Amino acid sequence: MISKKPIRRAFVGLQWGDEGKGKVVDEAAAEARDLNDGHKTIVVRTQGGPNAGHTIKTINSQGTPVTFITHAAPSGLPSNVDIAIGPHVAFSPKHFLKEINEARDLFNYNGRIMISERVGILLDYHRLIDEIRENNISTSVGSTKNGVGPFYEDVARRTTRITFADYVSSKFPDRLREVMEIKKSEIESALVKNNISFKDCLDKILAAHESLRHQLASYGERLEYRLNEYLEDGNHIIIEGAQGSGLDVDMGTIPDQTSSHLLAPHAFPGLGLSRSDFEIYGVEKIYPTRVGKGEMPTIDIKNFGKTVQREAREIGATTGRPRRVGYPDWVFVKHTARLNDCDGIILTRVDDVQNHELQVCVAYCFPDGNILNEVPLYLQGVTPFYANETFNWNLWNNLDETGIKMARKKYVEKGKFALPSNLREFISEHDNYVGCPIKGVSIGPYRGDTITKGF
Ligand code: GDP
Repeated sequence: MISKKPIRRAFVGLQWGDEGKGKVVDEAAAEARDLNDGHKTIVVRTQGGPNAGHTIKTINSQGTPVTFITHAAPSGLPSNVDIAIGPHVAFSPKHFLKEINEARDLFNYNGRIMISERVGILLDYHRLIDEIRENNISTSVGSTKNGVGPFYEDVARRTTRITFADYVSSKFPDRLREVMEIKKSEIESALVKNNISFKDCLDKILAAHESLRHQLASYGERLEYRLNEYLEDGNHIIIEGAQGSGLDVDMGTIPDQTSSHLLAPHAFPGLGLSRSDFEIYGVEKIYPTRVGKGEMPTIDIKNFGKTVQREAREIGATTGRPRRVGYPDWVFVKHTARLNDCDGIILTRVDDVQNHELQVCVAYCFPDGNILNEVPLYLQGVTPFYANETFNWNLWNNLDETGIKMARKKYVEKGKFALPSNLREFISEHDNYVGCPIKGVSIGPYRGDTITKGF
């Protein structure tokens, strides 16, 4: 048996989501599994609900390339490792079981599944309330209408949180009735448009969840203890965040954020783990994108933004909405790398800027005339201040698709020092400015397309 240091990594998005976290988490899970060191590997999802989506491109158990999208389950499924759901997730039984069953078909998934007994259950009335609010311009926040906002309101209200332990116990029908009674007026007003009575809504939820509850019953755990034992036994643990730091409930641009705490250091106490046992990696897409509402200072609606949006197919995995594209914003990344206490950064989608000129935002111009290296609460009226230098991108040099695949393999094998000099210069300027080193460069959507050698 080879004795190596266990892999203990947490991944968090440094922008507004869709940075490629699913892909790098999948790679970390496969790396830990392939150590074959007699230790287990687990991937733990920490927050958010099916409003998030990770796309993982990998190979199934028959050796065929597949695209696997997770909304509720952690990205460990394609690697057939253990998975866990932390207490701060908005847990959707329906989405979760669907993905587990897909993974069983595609990857012969048979890992251990652990779900925190504390995690709250996302139910149909959350979705109905969300939908009603979204359809009204004065209450819309640009949500995905999955009910995640109303769910976190129930978590904060305490008496309305239906925990996983409640859900799988025989008390669930009574508990559901009790909670729906507390929320009756709000639920009823959401039901009017759907032409369904309060009682029918309750009965429908009970019926829809009867089988799901039984399928999930054996997975409930006092997770904070189990994960701690997992750690003490020397196993590999990978923590996966959803969305991006720019959407954090406290640190995002209020009200255009999500409703959970998504900065990486928040994850540890609820999982019974210590930050000091982990390396935190920020995932940064070389050009930021933002879907839905909300400001993004470097947004480009002209040539660069439009071309990258089209070429890189920047369409949301959950909503199908196009993502707005911007120039690299290092002010924002410096800020979020610090908030997350990052040890390193994985830069993704570097292949998608081939033959583009990149200008880099190194300060913000505020409406009062100040030019500062700070991210304010509200981004309205803030414009980018670009560095004099632009980076001309010519990494792939017009290779055709087969050529790019070969080139990717070559770059991954040879590592950082074989990269084109303009890319190395970009990385070194980024390290100096952001103050947190790039530890990997992703140049393709597939597992194995990330260069880590030499970093
Ligand atoms: P996440 O929510 O952060 O996991 O990101 P998404 O899954 O929503 O979106 C990331 C998309 O980028 C997925 O379709 C990935 O397959 C793709 N992707 C990730 N890294 C790279 C990369 O380096 N190059 C390319 N071309 N695609 C990538």
